[in-house]
Amino acid sequence: MKKKSSPLDRRKFLKQGGAMAIGGAAMLALGKSAFAENVAGHAPLNPEYFVEGDDKFILPVLPYTYDALEPFIDKMTMEIHYSKHHQAYVNNLNKALVGTPVVALDDLLKKISSYPLAVRNNVGGHFNHSLYWSIMKPNGGGQASGPLLAAIQSAFGSFDVFKEKFTTAATSVFGSGWVWLVINQSGVLEIGSTPNQDNPLMDISPLKGFPLMGLDVWEHAYYLKHQNKRIDYVKDWWNILNWEAIQKRFSEK
Ligand code: MN
Repeated sequence: MKKKSSPLDRRKFLKQGGAMAIGGAAMLALGKSAFAENVAGHAPLNPEYFVEGDDKFILPVLPYTYDALEPFIDKMTMEIHYSKHHQAYVNNLNKALVGTPVVALDDLLKKISSYPLAVRNNVGGHFNHSLYWSIMKPNGGGQASGPLLAAIQSAFGSFDVFKEKFTTAATSVFGSGWVWLVINQSGVLEIGSTPNQDNPLMDISPLKGFPLMGLDVWEHAYYLKHQNKRIDYVKDWWNILNWEAIQKRFSEK
């Protein structure tokens, strides 16, 4: 993980974040080809880009349009999920943090046990969704390659076995939660899940590690299209994964 940012760094990140947001919006207005470029150029989201000023978190720019992941995730689900659910986590996080000292997002997650439940739920909601958007893209899918594929093969035997185990973990979550592929504390790839909006970066999570990819299995992520059939949503999801973004997280860790 990155070292803790100084106030100066934070201001620098703010500027970069602002430039990225403007760039993203401009590209969205330019149409499909510029849109593809945007996905390739900006897919990995850095948590520090989400900080606005010294005391507010903001919704990151979605690197594709609401209908871009059709037919696997429908437009209305994307629109509600991003502009209502994720926005609400951001708003409620900012509200819950009023009056507390400013802390970088990484540090907040690491020390989440010392914060109220409202911070835990909403910072998790913010981080988890930001990651989720960044590891999907139109015309995605296929499989990992290079060092990430080698690490997957070493941990699970083959990519197909990994996919099967991840899918089983996703259908086994009772109620709302997330499924993760993490680099665990021994440096090995591991699949696991967390309830609600918890994640493996939180000190209270039994599953600990650096998340490479996360799948939202809350019903709000799939109910409009897939209704009660979570398994169909998970099967569809493999077709929109952005393996370049996931590999980038792996290589930067
Ligand atoms: Mn969600």
